[in-house]
Amino acid sequence: MAAVAAEVAMRTLQGIAVSPGVAIGEALIVDNEGFRIPRRFVMRDAVDDELQRLNVAIEAVADQISRNRDTVTAQLGNQCGAIFSAHLQMLRDPSLLSDIEGLIRTKHYSPEYAVSQTLRRFAKVFQGLDNVYLAERAHDIVDIERSLLGKLLGERREEFSHLTSPVVILAHNLTPTETASLDRNLVLGFVTEIGGAGGHTAIVAKGLEIPAVVGMGRFLTDLSGGELVIVDGNHGQVILQPDEETIASYRHQVEEHHSLVAQLGQLRELPAETTDGTRITLLANIEFPREAESCLERGADGIGLYRTEFLYLGAKTEPTEADHYDAYAEVIRQMQGRPVVIRTLDLGADKLGQLPQDEQNPFLGLRSIRLSLRNLPLFRVQLRAILRASILGPVRIMFPLISTLADLRQAKMVLADAFEDLDEAGVAFDHDVEVGMMVEVPAAVTMLDKFLKEVDFISIGTNDLIQYALAVDRGNSQVADRYQASDPAILRLLDQSLTAARSAGVPASVCGQMSGEPRFTMLLLGLGLHTLSVPPSAIPEIKRICRSISIPKCEDVARRAMAMESAREIDTYLREELRRVAPEFGMN
Ligand code: PEP
Ligand code: MG
Repeated sequence: MAAVAAEVAMRTLQGIAVSPGVAIGEALIVDNEGFRIPRRFVMRDAVDDELQRLNVAIEAVADQISRNRDTVTAQLGNQCGAIFSAHLQMLRDPSLLSDIEGLIRTKHYSPEYAVSQTLRRFAKVFQGLDNVYLAERAHDIVDIERSLLGKLLGERREEFSHLTSPVVILAHNLTPTETASLDRNLVLGFVTEIGGAGGHTAIVAKGLEIPAVVGMGRFLTDLSGGELVIVDGNHGQVILQPDEETIASYRHQVEEHHSLVAQLGQLRELPAETTDGTRITLLANIEFPREAESCLERGADGIGLYRTEFLYLGAKTEPTEADHYDAYAEVIRQMQGRPVVIRTLDLGADKLGQLPQDEQNPFLGLRSIRLSLRNLPLFRVQLRAILRASILGPVRIMFPLISTLADLRQAKMVLADAFEDLDEAGVAFDHDVEVGMMVEVPAAVTMLDKFLKEVDFISIGTNDLIQYALAVDRGNSQVADRYQASDPAILRLLDQSLTAARSAGVPASVCGQMSGEPRFTMLLLGLGLHTLSVPPSAIPEIKRICRSISIPKCEDVARRAMAMESAREIDTYLREELRRVAPEFGMN
């Protein structure tokens, strides 16, 4: 193999923007198997030991490949076994080994980093060849890299939670749980190969305020980690090895953003009131109790959606009633008398990031309220904890993914049982606690007049409503272009739901991501919505927009948008209207 020159040209890649902001930092690669390849240096006097460690790893991998070759040859014949002979040959290639050793000796890179740098560089060259057979060899090189890193990292593989210096994570995928475990002081931003705008990973990123781009497609194979990366979470761009000019321009954007945030901060004590005097209630969506603080900092009127399932994600043991209670109590106390809507568990394979053997289609499966109703002990524990916490402040209970009246009625029956149990045990709770439901399944919209007779409030979950109405997986980058809140069908579903709620006199809000996106504010207010529940970071800008518009103008915008026939047309129109009232957000 010939030595290959390092490539340093800047490259701009396009993905899906899911969490705003700009991050500039060193790349940390996490591939499908979770290997992290930090840019590490070794002490000058440790070089020999590190080379020895490399040799041990190479011998272990060679041994493993030889054994695979022998087994496969015995079972499938020489031709298949030859694949492993080729791997062995590559692993022992003198030019490859001398490049790795050179990086350790001269640049003092750690063996992990040197292996990853060198093998990815080789793989990239093979990938670019015009010969299909040789291009395929890139996979073999990646395979060898994985085996070597597996041996080298061994027990030393670190968790995300053990980062020690700031990085930008570039990963094939991050589950919502992994995302939730990121330390936002050290993870400046992240980029993933898969994922879509409505996925829970995206939602958690926004909650943590970590700039993120997902759905990039394959781009990790030719990176080795340690290179400078810019993540533009506003426009979905990822810039690899940016030049000085680009870095300077992004640094300038970051500064401008900081001054905009400072400017918006001045609105904190002012109400979200339209120019014609309509008070809009701005609630916040949270996943973790610690977010309550940033809700208050941003001037939230309360919590409109507390996604309690995050208590389960990443927990080593099943949360007890006390764990539930403590989390809810913390949020309620922090919110100091403001309402807190606690949504019962919306657990399912989609959020856990694991697919049970017998559930191929988790979004249509045993998810959310269905799981709670199937697992009553789990549901009861949560309901008891919410009720006990209800004496600490104004708590509302919300059931997710209600698709039939039977779902709602069963959930309310379990709640009634919890009332009885607590009464019998003499435990105090708020007997008038309000009970509501998410409207996120098209069937619930169709039947809403019936549901409205049995709930105190509704909250429209557009994240799911879009995926179920348009038959588009919210987390799938392959169909991300079809996942559009501005689709005319979605506008009709919203209009239908809000009209029904208004005529039944039942308070309604929207808590899907759409409500936190500035271009939809006029539309939503124009459709008659007066309560929005948004990610905490979106509160200042949505408030700023509310304070710049009048309800008659919003109604006009909604009327025009409702007459349009495509998501693209509606989107362009809404962006134009937004640019007129708030030019600083017009690009989002
Ligand atoms: C929704 O579906 O819009 C919603 C708010 O719930 P989640 O994103 O947690 O499914
Ligand atoms: Mg939902």
